[in-house]
Amino acid sequence: MSNRRLTPRITAPRSGVGLASGFELASRGKSNASNIDSALQRNRVFAAAGGHQGAVVFPKLRLFVITCLDPRVDPAHFLGLGLGDAMVVRNVGGRVTPEVINDVAFIGQLAESVLPDGPLFEVAVIHHTQCGTGALADDTFRRRYAERIGADESTLLEHAVLDPAGTVTRDVERLHSAPAIAPRVTVSGHVYDVVTGLVETVIPAGRRGDRIAAVPLRP
Ligand SMILES: [Zn+2]
Repeated sequence: MSNRRLTPRITAPRSGVGLASGFELASRGKSNASNIDSALQRNRVFAAAGGHQGAVVFPKLRLFVITCLDPRVDPAHFLGLGLGDAMVVRNVGGRVTPEVINDVAFIGQLAESVLPDGPLFEVAVIHHTQCGTGALADDTFRRRYAERIGADESTLLEHAVLDPAGTVTRDVERLHSAPAIAPRVTVSGHVYDVVTGLVETVIPAGRRGDRIAAVPLRP
């Protein structure tokens, strides 16, 4: 076992919605390869049981999920996704970054080549309560991180998911307004509550243009 351990430190929420989570190393130590060992044992069981057989490339649910990399927020669990059901992109906060827009555009172009008409697939953006990106609202943390990655501090503050319904609304609008994304792609926005385990829809699925008038644009 590794002696390197992450201990989450949850700060007191300032509202009903879960807020900034902080993370710090409880102790320093050498990292080793053992962290993957138990997962590899599960892989052997998976392969022996034929869990990989019959999986298809184009997702059975025609669904593309964008959500946070928080281990509590695994769509295979809270959405019950099986192998081949959906494409999933996870990053810090589940935010729609330029890289994520390019990923959706790529899949859209592939889908256009096999589906000449009709809807291609739905992109579901799912933000969650108690998101660790709340750490970016802390001035000291944000300043250090900005220096570390060479980013603009104000941009990083905007990345924090403090109000998941608000940030998911903005990210849905980002997808709707991205010219690289095929118009036949629909987009929806949701919030996953890590306390109740429930997903609530904030923006129902729609195509580009459907929401422009309904969703206020924020900088
Ligand atoms: Zn998160």
